[in-house]
Amino acid sequence: SLSDRLTATFKNLRGKGRLTEADVDGTVREIRRALLDADVAVPVVREFTAHVKERALGEEVSQALNPGQQVVKIVNDELVRILGGETRRINLAKNPPTVIMLAGLQGAGKTTLAGKLAKWLKGQGHTPLLVACDLQRPNAVKQLQVNGERAGVPVYAPHPGVSSEFEASTGDPVVVARNGVSEARQKQHDIVIVDTAGRLGVDAEMMQQAADIRAAINPHEVLFVIDAMIGQDAVNTAQAFNDGVNFTGVVLSKLDGDARGGAALSVASVTGKPVMFASTGEGLDDFEVFHPDRMASRILDMGDILTLIEQAEKSWDKDEAERMAKKFVDQEDFTLEDFLAQMQQIRKMGSLKKMLTMMPGAQVSRQQLEQFDERQIDRIEAIVRSMTPHERRVPKIINGSRRARIAKGSGVHVSEVNAMLERFTEAQKMMKRMAAGGGMPGMPGGRA
Ligand code: GDP
Ligand code: MG
Repeated sequence: SLSDRLTATFKNLRGKGRLTEADVDGTVREIRRALLDADVAVPVVREFTAHVKERALGEEVSQALNPGQQVVKIVNDELVRILGGETRRINLAKNPPTVIMLAGLQGAGKTTLAGKLAKWLKGQGHTPLLVACDLQRPNAVKQLQVNGERAGVPVYAPHPGVSSEFEASTGDPVVVARNGVSEARQKQHDIVIVDTAGRLGVDAEMMQQAADIRAAINPHEVLFVIDAMIGQDAVNTAQAFNDGVNFTGVVLSKLDGDARGGAALSVASVTGKPVMFASTGEGLDDFEVFHPDRMASRILDMGDILTLIEQAEKSWDKDEAERMAKKFVDQEDFTLEDFLAQMQQIRKMGSLKKMLTMMPGAQVSRQQLEQFDERQIDRIEAIVRSMTPHERRVPKIINGSRRARIAKGSGVHVSEVNAMLERFTEAQKMMKRMAAGGGMPGMPGGRA
């Protein structure tokens, strides 16, 4: 019967007491593997999983989720929290220009990001100015000018020979940075993006230069750009830049490659700074505002399970469950209205078939899947809706002429009304049995 099928369906969605060590351990082991696969730094993985385990143990089992799902949810929530929670917006200055400084190792993607950020901000109605402070690499200024041109954003740079002021500033990135910000103020640009030099590895001289630039221009945001492929080095590099320039936000670059983004977690975890943007390619439009929740599922590589958890939680109507539970305590009859409410609860769960296939460990046979026809719920709903409230509460009054009327009203054949009423009677019997035995197997939130 339909009820039997539902029983099988919701087997995994029932709460049972508190999360046990066994529930948690198995899932945490999988999570640890997923994090290491995503190249999250080893010490970060260790700390993270220990924290998750501590938080999960003894937690009351959710009514909507099975223990494994619940641990995954805790992991996901923690990931999102560490990555910055809500998407962090740029901190705009009350008195423009807003000064944004970029920092990071050479090759991290700063100059590319400068162009992307400028283009994106321009698209939002801002009037950014780019400032070229990487005077270390011969081609760096030119590279920013090319990006600026592509983005349709002006670039402030020292041009030896063009003006004595520029000439004087050549060679000193701190002076260029300061002049660039003045230029922005004069020409009423509301945002300045200051590109800086990096080295292949962290070194004291480079860090001092970045710190000096920071001190000279007092930026509203210092964005630390880090290559998502950096892997285990993320921790040391992030720590060095955090100590050196005390950055305010992180940009993860080269997220278009194989990287699953573990560096995001490593950096955010050791510095406590939020990830704000992601760079996803060499083109100027390959740029995204960073969404902690999306990154969490990318790191876990469990998008389907997370979707499932979300659906199960969303559709889980606590009030309805309590009403039902109370009904069984009261030993009241299970009416057609309850039957319809059950159907609607199921519909809210979205595509049941899709859910079943996503659910790890759901013991549902292929045959059961095929038998389950969501259109049946539509027809049942139509039939119940064609009944009077009194008929729904006291189904035994539904005689031949009422059946004919209901069939007509719902656009089905009388035989379907009959079949539906039969199924309802079966379900009603089952509910009574379960009320007597305590609980309602198969319905989320049924008393266990
Ligand atoms: P900088 O030294 O920090 O200024 O780094 P660059 O902006 O010069 O970038 C170094 C290299 O990485 C260049 O070849 C860029 O085209 C490339 N690059 C930058 N960002 C990305 C990205 O998001 N994805 C990919 N695939 N390449 C990138
Ligand atoms: Mg550069």
